[in-house]
Amino acid sequence: MSDCLFCRIVAGEIPSERVYEDEKVVVFKDINPKAEVHLLVIPRQHIESLDSLRAEDDELIAYMMRLLPRLARDQGLHDGFRTIINTGKGGGQLVFHLHLHLLGGKNLPGFE
Ligand code: AMP
Ligand code: ZN
Repeated sequence: MSDCLFCRIVAGEIPSERVYEDEKVVVFKDINPKAEVHLLVIPRQHIESLDSLRAEDDELIAYMMRLLPRLARDQGLHDGFRTIINTGKGGGQLVFHLHLHLLGGKNLPGFE
């Protein structure tokens, strides 16, 4: 059994509120939402962070990026959304399985 929280979510060993999944990614609601809509987009495969990406991950990363606007629209975010990726301890990363935060709607935090 993996000791990575998000690998365990992918495996279904830890429950999550999934809103989308396919052969490459799983998307679920953040347990501690920072805005009205707060999703986490993660690859099924374990990649620690942006810092550990290899050239062969390029297609997967592009895929995840292009998925974001589709997910946002499905959540009713028709006038935009915010994407955050925390990398490493210094970047505020708490879970070391790569994840894209997709935020939008009311109470959108920071960066204005
Ligand atoms: P980060 O600081 O970028 O590593 O963010 C980790 C995110 O994972 C935080 O926003 C947490 O609220 C979220 N999180 C932690 N555990 C769970 C869980 N079991 N289900 C959903 N989201 C989680
Ligand atoms: Zn993992």
